[in-house]
Amino acid sequence: MKNDPRSHGLWERTAAPAPLTPALAEHIKVDVLVVGAGFTGLSAALHLAEAGSRVAVLEGEEIGFGGSGRNVGLVNAGMWVMPDDLPGELGPIYGDRLLDLLGNAPKLVFELVARHAIDCEIMPVGTLHCAVGTKGLKEIEERATQWQRRGAPVELLDARAAASLIGTSAYAGALLDRRAGTIQPLAYVRGLARAAMAAGARLYSGSPVESVVRDGQGWMAKTPRGAVSAPWIVVATNAYTRTPWPAVRAELVHLPYFNFATEPLTDNVRRSILPEQQGAWDTEEVLSSFRFDAAGRLVFGSVGALRGTGLSVHKFWARRMLRRLFPQLGEIRFESEWYGHIGMTANNLPRFHRFAPGVVGFSGYNGRGIAPGTVFGRELARLVLGQITEADLPLPVTDPRAEPFRFIKETVYEVGAQAAHLKAALF
Ligand SMILES: Cc1cc2nc3c(=O)[nH]c(=O)nc-3n(C[C@H](O)[C@H](O)[C@H](O)COP(=O)(O)OP(=O)(O)OC[C@H]3O[C@@H](n4cnc5c(N)ncnc54)[C@H](O)[C@@H]3O)c2cc1C
Repeated sequence: MKNDPRSHGLWERTAAPAPLTPALAEHIKVDVLVVGAGFTGLSAALHLAEAGSRVAVLEGEEIGFGGSGRNVGLVNAGMWVMPDDLPGELGPIYGDRLLDLLGNAPKLVFELVARHAIDCEIMPVGTLHCAVGTKGLKEIEERATQWQRRGAPVELLDARAAASLIGTSAYAGALLDRRAGTIQPLAYVRGLARAAMAAGARLYSGSPVESVVRDGQGWMAKTPRGAVSAPWIVVATNAYTRTPWPAVRAELVHLPYFNFATEPLTDNVRRSILPEQQGAWDTEEVLSSFRFDAAGRLVFGSVGALRGTGLSVHKFWARRMLRRLFPQLGEIRFESEWYGHIGMTANNLPRFHRFAPGVVGFSGYNGRGIAPGTVFGRELARLVLGQITEADLPLPVTDPRAEPFRFIKETVYEVGAQAAHLKAALF
């Protein structure tokens, strides 16, 4: 996108084109303005339009420009935070509610894909959280116990069972979560856009909201060449927020994450790695993830930005690690490379904000945004439609709080990832 092959990489090469959307060049009035065309904004727009609301979506760049078009495509159930820690962080009501909602969130993604016939390489075959060493094993054992106590269909695999599902004996075990799966994320977000438009939502790309002013009882959002008046605004700009909600960005520490995709592998090699096509990631602090796309390309990712020295360091590391994990790969050629920024919050949990009366949004998904963004979008639609109140949401209302020393933390992430990868590749 925007002539940058490292923004959306493989997904841009293989997704069906986005629906044609103009830039806003007039003043329109609607019931709800959604700002940001990612999973959150488009799920909100789709659910609102299906319920009969007049909806406009304003996207500053292109559909899926933010995290939604750049991610790994792991449709996870739940958050990074251990299930039992959520009630402690949020209190029992919100903790259990968020767990229920996010534990079941992949189901909504799979249902929407089926209902709207979205062509997005969907593989609802589960995910594997791979344990590195005894520390990693302890972590997934604990996670498995906590989810199983809640009745979730997760399975703890010993080293042997894990090896046969992953294709390497590098891991001490794995947690198989059958609620989850993988998708082609840019294809999914473009499909959501098509479905929202078919339901009557009006989408505008290249239309950044630059300012918002009071307009009677509601609001008027101004773009460079147009304006939208609406009583409600859904702010779905998350980690890619620009003005006029800088507070959302200020609350999030950007964690860079990259992916490399190999060329399509031969059937033989392909069958020897992730034979059941689950998406996988490991328990390392500087984690790695791997999955296949529909054509048999292995997509391998980790923390880091593909710019400056990061580009060669991370590529060197990726080749080395892949060869160590899967020697059967032989000569590794990468066809695509891309990266994006994950919005991290201080406690690794998302936020719900009411910026002003009628101006609301979720943000801060900590690298878990496909399923959460989709369900949070639906919850925002329900809130706007009056089907639920703020007290029924999965998160309490909080004020955005600027993260102290954000730029230093972001630099540490970027430089630290390079140091960690250089060390791992060399020793
Ligand atoms: C590299 C990477 C890997 C990831 N891997 C996974 C994964 O495997 N699984 C998973 O579940 N999650 C993953 N995530 C997280 C997930 O992608 C995000 O949480 C999710 O995409 C957030 O969706 P969103 O709709 O809330 O925001 P976004 O998709 O970021 O959309 C926000 C949009 O708002 C637009 N915008 C901003 N400001 C304005 C404005 N003023 N006016 C108009 N438009 C504006 C932006 O251009 C952007 O398109 C990953 C993220 C990254 C970056």
